[in-house]
Amino acid sequence: MARALRFILGDQLSRDIATLRDADRDGDIVLMCEVDDEATYVRHHKKKIAFIFAAMRHYADDLRNDGFEVDYRQLDDPDHRVSSFTQALRQAVERHGPDRVVVTEPGEWRVLQMMKDWQRELDVDVEIRTDDRFIATRDDFAAWAKGRKSLRMETFYRRMRRRTGFLMEGGEPAGSRWNFDRDNRAPPADGLSFPDRPHWSVDETTQQVLDLVAARFGDHFGDLEPFAYPVTRRQATRYLNWFVTHALADFGAYQDAMMSDEALMYHSHLSALLNVGLLDPRECCDKAEAAWRAGAAPLNSVEGFIRQIIGWREFVRGIYWLNMPGYGEANALAATRELPQWFWTGQTHMKCLRQAIGQTRQNAYAHHIQRLMVIGNFALLAGLDPRQVQEWFLIVYHDAYEWVEMPNVVGMALFADGGLFATKPYASSGAYIDRMSDYCGGCRYSVNRKAGPKACPFNYLYWNFLIENRQRFAGNRRMAMMYGTLDRMKDERKDAIRADSARFFKRIEEA
Ligand SMILES: Cc1cc2nc3c(=O)[nH]c(=O)nc-3n(C[C@H](O)[C@H](O)[C@H](O)COP(=O)(O)OP(=O)(O)OC[C@H]3O[C@@H](n4cnc5c(N)ncnc54)[C@H](O)[C@@H]3O)c2cc1C
Ligand code: SF4
Repeated sequence: MARALRFILGDQLSRDIATLRDADRDGDIVLMCEVDDEATYVRHHKKKIAFIFAAMRHYADDLRNDGFEVDYRQLDDPDHRVSSFTQALRQAVERHGPDRVVVTEPGEWRVLQMMKDWQRELDVDVEIRTDDRFIATRDDFAAWAKGRKSLRMETFYRRMRRRTGFLMEGGEPAGSRWNFDRDNRAPPADGLSFPDRPHWSVDETTQQVLDLVAARFGDHFGDLEPFAYPVTRRQATRYLNWFVTHALADFGAYQDAMMSDEALMYHSHLSALLNVGLLDPRECCDKAEAAWRAGAAPLNSVEGFIRQIIGWREFVRGIYWLNMPGYGEANALAATRELPQWFWTGQTHMKCLRQAIGQTRQNAYAHHIQRLMVIGNFALLAGLDPRQVQEWFLIVYHDAYEWVEMPNVVGMALFADGGLFATKPYASSGAYIDRMSDYCGGCRYSVNRKAGPKACPFNYLYWNFLIENRQRFAGNRRMAMMYGTLDRMKDERKDAIRADSARFFKRIEEA
């Protein structure tokens, strides 16, 4: 009887993954493995490894309950001898003698190259299927991008709205506007309260994974416990429903706000569930749109949420595949500074960074504005080496996979691709962080001071960045106002900016 070996990777935990679509429960084998190389090629946050392994083990149990034969290789299996996907697959082919291997294309270019090698090296047919969990395939995106002078998310997003029909009414955008971003910039307000999130007690399967991670990866970055994230399809669905019912309504307005010791606010916290496949992007958007149609959430929130998913998420994936290999090497601003040690400890006197990095250590999560306008902004202004910054972002977040992390870091946060899709760098002084957060009040530095050792470092680093990158940005229309202000500054002021920045960089480890 023809037997297919169906190989499911750790971020392919969707029940309708292309790999399984025509599976025969009576003959085919599903292969899943926890692979040492993948857990350690960068030293991922402990919570990230625990989340992925726990979700994989539960997914394998679900498949078994549904009648599949699953060959699951645990990392702590005493007979486990696999360190790479290739080795795991080769051994499984020897064990089961399948007629063909079926896989779905992976999220990383590096792994796709591995899969192509399998087609050459293994003595069996290897079929690589398109990952249609994304709404735009890689070819769709490439066709859209071809011949365009500039790649703008907003243009792509409108196409995706038309294509999917989300928030469309008679061919026009609901509310007569495509984008409600200008309603989504409220600073944190006094008296905001955040609804309690659903929690799960750790079951035996997850506990075994937590023990494994503590024993094998105890020296990796971040806190392993408490561990309270969904790891099954059922929990993920409950978490999504909870978000739509309790947080979506306020998500829009406070999307950019930051508050001390409030890691999640009204954010969905769904990215890791989406990225491993426990949730489908379309179902998230369907539920959000239904809430708006039922009058349970305002349009600015729902449009903002849907834009992040069918717009940004799909767009950055397209950018990644379009520019690989080589995208990760981009360094248009020739930034070379080493990452300060406190990126790993969070021990800095800059409260905004202490909060964002501290929460990242605890939760393997920080929300978008913390990633972009606090950590990313600092990395940009300080000229941190893009390769090191990418590796840091890939390690520390539970939702980080190269296809989504790399464009967000290289293109959005660091402008290292020279503006492939961003029209100007996301650079700002302390004023932005002060407006959008309550951080500055409790900081050792003063956001109102422009110069001297007590001044907020973002204030002089911002102008220093403009001075140092004048050649590249002075002609950028969107930066003309800032260069106009810089040009009106007295020479003494510019000298002070340079001197403060030089002093800061000299003692960056104590900042
Ligand atoms: C420097 C930097 C690095 C990032 N690295 C990652 C990463 O490794 N993995 C990752 O999933 N996201 C990454 N993002 C995007 C974004 O910050 C996270 O998706 C978001 O913070 C996840 O939290 P949430 O689920 O609460 O999102 P919400 O704010 O509730 O947004 C809803 C969903 O929209 C999607 N989304 C929103 N913005 C983006 C975006 N820019 N790119 C892709 N998807 C988006 C996510 O799936 C998210 O779950 C990064 C952003 C920056 C600026
Ligand atoms: S004063 Fe500056 S360093 Fe301190 S929290 Fe505010 S923005 Fe951050």
